Amino acid sequence: MKIKFLGTAAAEGIPALSCGCETCKRAKKLGGRNLRSRSQALINNDLLIDFNADTYWHMVKYDIELENINHVLITHSHQDHLQVKDIEYFRPDFCHGRKESINFYSAISGYNLIKQEADMPYMQGSVKYHLVEPYNDYLINGYKIKVLKANHAEFTTPVFYLIEKDNKKLLYAHDTGIFCQDTINYIGGRVDFITMDCTGGLQKGWRDNHLCLETNLEMIEILKSRKIVDNKTIKVVNHFSHNGQALYDDIVKELKGTDIICSYDGLEIEF
Ligand SMILES: [Zn+2]
Ligand SMILES: [Zn+2]
Ligand SMILES: [Zn+2]
Repeated sequence: MKIKFLGTAAAEGIPALSCGCETCKRAKKLGGRNLRSRSQALINNDLLIDFNADTYWHMVKYDIELENINHVLITHSHQDHLQVKDIEYFRPDFCHGRKESINFYSAISGYNLIKQEADMPYMQGSVKYHLVEPYNDYLINGYKIKVLKANHAEFTTPVFYLIEKDNKKLLYAHDTGIFCQDTINYIGGRVDFITMDCTGGLQKGWRDNHLCLETNLEMIEILKSRKIVDNKTIKVVNHFSHNGQALYDDIVKELKGTDIICSYDGLEIEF
């Protein structure tokens, strides 16, 4: 399985829109991996996770043939994960050469927003939408997918995904605080790859809605005790905010000597 991190920031990006804080100023000055667009990932060139306002730029920057990607998992309805108005551009008169309809999968909050756009008469069935619910399994595009409830803003019906194919399991756990017991139980066995929310960066005590590096380590210990994560599991921290007051360079420095990888825009890992 291969994952490419197209964007790795929280809602505002790093630097954040119209922000003059020290973290944003440093990011602009240092550039490179310290610049982050909004979170989105691509699995094996055929499964997209989330659909935010930076989708357009990711398509251009990484030369992604979006016209050949037919499946998109949505984690929740916050705007940095679902920019629903851009769904209009799949309408047949704006989007040529697409052989199949695109399929969006979301829990109820995002599902309702997508449905509203996709049901407009000019869309002519070009976008299909599917409701997914926590603690259910789905077979999507050849992937076995477990839907897990996230510890995040309830009104966005937040979920995250355990994605399995060819005996490899990837846990994409973003926009969640410490996982609830039902979620840990539903994950079941060992995962080969985990990517965790690190919105709080080097700050301390982030346990609900999002995590920070300190609570990422705590989460790893909890998952190790449940034999979900072990020393061979690839561990990534991702989804950073300028409010976490840490840039890529700062996180990498802090992670020295550990087996944890700090994400950056364009990071690709095959396992
Ligand atoms: Zn987010
Ligand atoms: Zn800032
Ligand atoms: Zn969110």
